[in-house]
Amino acid sequence: MKVLKIDHLGIAVNSIDEGKKFWTEALGLELEGIETIEEQKVTTAFLPVGESEIELLESTSPDGPIAGYLKKKGPGIQHIAFRVADIEAALKELKEKGILLVDETPRKGAGGARIAFLHPRSTGGVLVELCQR
Ligand code: ZN
Repeated sequence: MKVLKIDHLGIAVNSIDEGKKFWTEALGLELEGIETIEEQKVTTAFLPVGESEIELLESTSPDGPIAGYLKKKGPGIQHIAFRVADIEAALKELKEKGILLVDETPRKGAGGARIAFLHPRSTGGVLVELCQR
């Protein structure tokens, strides 16, 4: 499998309006669009940084995965996303290597990306997202 780059860092926030302030006002990053992914009960905002992006994640529902994360750990880095050339091939290869997959097949992510998560139990505690754009 070919990992092309760190695509983005996913950061859980209580609200994008509040959570974006450090990134836009202190660091001067530009917010490039907000999108709600209903299936995942999340609204995302992307702030490009060179070749990568910061992805702010706000829950749309108290029973969504981001709401659960915030309850347990509070705001902060929730996942790291790597861009791969071929997400199906990557998932197949990782499964063969015994890596636990949260998603056996890719699902729809923000910005038309296809994404899949790997289980933190197999990655040293990091929620890893693979994405193909
Ligand atoms: Zn992500």
